[in-house]
Amino acid sequence: MIVVLKPDATEADIAHIQQQVVHWGLQTHLSRGAQRTILGIIGPEDLLREKPLAAFPGVESVMPILKPYRLASFEFRQAGSVVTFAAPGGAVEIGGKRVTVIAGPCSVETREQILGIARSVKNSGASLLRGGAFKPRTSPYSFQGLGLEGLDLLAETRRETGLPVVTELIDTRDLAHIEKYADMIQIGARNMQNYSLLKEVGKSRKPVLLKRGMSATIKDFLMSAEYILSEGNFNVVLCERGIRTFETMTRNTLDLNAVPVLKRETHLPVIVDPSHGIGLRDFVSPMALAAVAAGADGVMIEVHNAPESALSDGEQSLRLQEFEALMSRLRGVAEAIGRSV
Ligand code: PEP
Ligand code: MN
Repeated sequence: MIVVLKPDATEADIAHIQQQVVHWGLQTHLSRGAQRTILGIIGPEDLLREKPLAAFPGVESVMPILKPYRLASFEFRQAGSVVTFAAPGGAVEIGGKRVTVIAGPCSVETREQILGIARSVKNSGASLLRGGAFKPRTSPYSFQGLGLEGLDLLAETRRETGLPVVTELIDTRDLAHIEKYADMIQIGARNMQNYSLLKEVGKSRKPVLLKRGMSATIKDFLMSAEYILSEGNFNVVLCERGIRTFETMTRNTLDLNAVPVLKRETHLPVIVDPSHGIGLRDFVSPMALAAVAAGADGVMIEVHNAPESALSDGEQSLRLQEFEALMSRLRGVAEAIGRSV
């Protein structure tokens, strides 16, 4: 930790801080420059947690040296993590050389719908099936998902197609069910800072797909991942899905800046959801290609057999043939950057 002192800090102010720091069990190193005096604090930064250094007279600012998202940071693990899970059709990896494509409807609606979409996206090359059974809708009057019946349909589809399944958890009471049926647990944007939910999935050993909150900074996002890691679950994949900005022409603003920034800050795999990121079908494919070009380890795409009658997010869902066309373009982009799909 580095403490920058104000130009008018007195000798008594400095001595007072030094005494207190020594009392907390750390050492100090004073460095007097022509303009400014800086106090370095030497020793485990943990001992300074919750200590109000910035409140001391004479202190201008306090700068931590370690990242607050310690377990998620590259300082903790130098190589990129690969989240791997066994699936009926073979192991699936996120974070390896291959770009992982997750596809499926926003919500599970009927048996025919989920099975039909799953078969089609699998044929087109998707590695994971998405589908919400518990839907966190903005309006309480909108379709809330099929709940447990939706999980049953996902389990049946998984058996039929061999595709592993990712589905959203919105309530800690449903964790046991979702753990039983799904290969990966999604924590949605609206729950990114639901700390009790994060702690519960942190105790689970299932891979977690953590989506960025719509008003969360990249640092907030990493701190939420830290909650899961700090409970012992390191199988976490981050998903950029667009943030709220002043722009109204699109549903959200897909923050592709987050991809290279996250890739520098954390060892966790990073994927992008352009469907929620832009919210309009015609623009989903270009942003998916851009996400892979920017270095994303995967994309998550909403796909529907009949978007015009979808019970949620039809306007941003690709038709089956559009998804197939996107897959072949994704292969080209992946190849251009030395990866594959
Ligand atoms: C979803 O994936 O269908 C979803 C609700 O996403 P988000 O949490 O990003 O809004
Ligand atoms: Mn959706």
